Amino acid sequence: MTDAETLAERVKAGDLRLYALEDHADADTAAAARRHLLAEELDVDLETVGDYSFPADSAESNVENLIGAAQIPLGVAGPLPVDGEAADGSVYLPLATTEGALVASVNRGAGAIRAAGGASTTVLERGMTRAPVFEVGDIHEAAAVADWVRASLDRLATAAETTTNHGELREATPYVVGDSVFVRFVYDTKDAMGMNMATIATREAADVIESETPASLVAVSGNLCTDKKPAGINAIEGRGRSVAADVFLPTEVLEDRLGTTAGAVAEVNTRKNLIGSARAASLGFNAHAANVVGAAFLALGQDVAQVVEGAHAITSVEARKDGLYASVTLPALAVGTVGGGTGLPTQSEALEILGLAGGGNPPGSNGDALAEVLAAGALAGELSLLGALAGRHLASAHAEHGR
Ligand code: NAP
Repeated sequence: MTDAETLAERVKAGDLRLYALEDHADADTAAAARRHLLAEELDVDLETVGDYSFPADSAESNVENLIGAAQIPLGVAGPLPVDGEAADGSVYLPLATTEGALVASVNRGAGAIRAAGGASTTVLERGMTRAPVFEVGDIHEAAAVADWVRASLDRLATAAETTTNHGELREATPYVVGDSVFVRFVYDTKDAMGMNMATIATREAADVIESETPASLVAVSGNLCTDKKPAGINAIEGRGRSVAADVFLPTEVLEDRLGTTAGAVAEVNTRKNLIGSARAASLGFNAHAANVVGAAFLALGQDVAQVVEGAHAITSVEARKDGLYASVTLPALAVGTVGGGTGLPTQSEALEILGLAGGGNPPGSNGDALAEVLAAGALAGELSLLGALAGRHLASAHAEHGR
């Protein structure tokens, strides 16, 4: 019997816990034992899942009960020229996806942007949020706590920043609902997406609120943050990076690259992205920004659940003389180049493709550049899909009305 099989037998016998195998063997053997157990119990073949190329112990802070790796096909779209505040140059955007045609679509949009001379990008705001909820006696006490918080940003920042070398507390905004007080803390977390950093720092600040006011902490996250749930507050106030990309596509580029016209794209955008989204009460006024955000997040070691916030994007287009102006604004893009899954081997290699692995100089510049590149990628995706829809619309309109 191999070591892995022996471990699996001991789990079956109730002698060992499935999650505690690393206490008795190295991480690769522990993963093999779990695969063996599952394969026997469920009669499944996990050979490919077990055929991973990174050292299992390098994933210890990223996953528990490791059995192997889910391999997702990885493609690149580009070159995509980005003229941003932090990102500058032509990039190949890594996209991990199982959706055929997605990379081709972004690639087509990137070709149009390239032919137009590149996309402009900028980070409008940065601020990762955490909003604890406190209990108070009544609404008068709640109002007093809210006043204290408004007057005490420096004190709260001093406490919060004892926990981090990079994080900086920028805002602490109170919200009152009856006898509940929420405080939405906003941090500049530099190159980290910052959710752990903000949570740890907020615990420290919450201690100060508890010691200086009658408020009592109920939960370090009171959902007004709002993490990984669709929320108007993120769409309006922003979360992570608020970032935008735009481009002007001359008429001939629209025709050559996307086979359409400015007027047709504008009509699709108005009726679909604006009117359709409004009628659906959507928080995203875009065609498929989440496709690019999701595939890039998977490729680049981002927290994929935050695609929810990334989907809160607005695509605007305007038919102008001689071409089309198009922009995508993503108010809540939670990205980082350090921490989370960014250090894992394939994710780190994918960040290297962008030249953005690790901390930036100055800190925050890599995070900004990543946000800008993803905004340009989202713009490429939007242009491609809008162009395809507009092309089809034109084709059918021609068939119907063209004679
Ligand atoms: P993290 O890995 O916990 O923290 C980032 C680390 O990088 C910090 O230790 C920071 O040090 C360090 N660092 C080094 N160079 C840096 C630079 N240039 N800029 C910024 N930081 C730098 O990651 P995180 O981004 O805070 O959190 C991401 C993780 O949180 C993901 O795994 C995500 O899945 C998870 N998550 C957590 C929660 C939660 O509620 N806790 C919620 C959602 C997601 P200093 O702090 O000393 O500066």
